[in-house]
Amino acid sequence: MKDHMIKELAHYQKLFASLRTDKNKNRWAITTKHQAPHKPFLLLSILDQISSSNITKNFIEPSLNLIETFNNYWSLIMPIGSSASMSYPFYHLETSGFWHLVSTHGEQHQVGRTVSSVKRLLELYQGAKLDDDLFILLNNKEYRHDLRSILINHYFAPEIHQGLWDQATINKQSEAYYYNIMKHPEESSSMVAEAPSPIYQKVRDQGFRKAIVRLYEHRCAICGIRILTPEGHTVVEAAHIIPWSQTHNDSPQNGMSLCKLCHWSFDEGLMGVDLDYKVMVSPSVQKNNNFSGHMQMLSDREIFKPDENKYWPKQENFDHHRQEVYRKT
Ligand SMILES: [Zn+2]
Repeated sequence: MKDHMIKELAHYQKLFASLRTDKNKNRWAITTKHQAPHKPFLLLSILDQISSSNITKNFIEPSLNLIETFNNYWSLIMPIGSSASMSYPFYHLETSGFWHLVSTHGEQHQVGRTVSSVKRLLELYQGAKLDDDLFILLNNKEYRHDLRSILINHYFAPEIHQGLWDQATINKQSEAYYYNIMKHPEESSSMVAEAPSPIYQKVRDQGFRKAIVRLYEHRCAICGIRILTPEGHTVVEAAHIIPWSQTHNDSPQNGMSLCKLCHWSFDEGLMGVDLDYKVMVSPSVQKNNNFSGHMQMLSDREIFKPDENKYWPKQENFDHHRQEVYRKT
């Protein structure tokens, strides 16, 4: 059995090291060895999802979770402002020899299509299966580690290897952090690491963000806007009511999902939330001939809250904001 596995591992090491990628010196930087990083990023994301038990059977769906993990890798390495659609590697991995697309009902699989958006991908495919032997290997921690190092060493420059290993750690630990704060929303103080490190900071950020954005289903609690593109880009951010630096409180009861304008306005004290969970707009917004029409419309409107009240923002935290941050005049 062991011999068989080792033979299989060698087979997939070879396939992982010979993915077909776009090679172009002008298009791709030295950090990705002048190659398109889409396929390695997707495979790294799949390894992470298996590692945190989000993928437990041999069927890979283009889920929002997978897309977000892919986007995290992308923004870690690639130039600021650039983005890519996970649909490209998801479709084109079929040339790898271990990736088998599963069509949606009534759709025939065709080779050589252009699938340039997640929306299109979802119209055509339910997901993909890996070779069963490969999936078994990937469920073993050591083999998974081995195949991850093939991807990292083969497709990325040495100076970013550590960053990629760290991102894998962050992805795994932030899942655990997320489950923990969802399970104990009443705990006001978050779990502070024994030795706070830059990695731990990212674990917290990513875990808190996941909890808040999911609880509010990507909707801004104050103005109600919800824009989530199929590529996983969202208008909202996870906001703390009392800043993390003051109380180290990552409970959902100290958070809200807010769009960029509402987040900024809330932090600046231009908006607040009253005892009945209604929006307060500071009188200071109306000064200086300001055309603040849309902000004024939000005044006295109830904020959007998660379904379960154990996740609602705590009045105690809003009270702190009303006293310390909100501009009364
Ligand atoms: Zn908003």
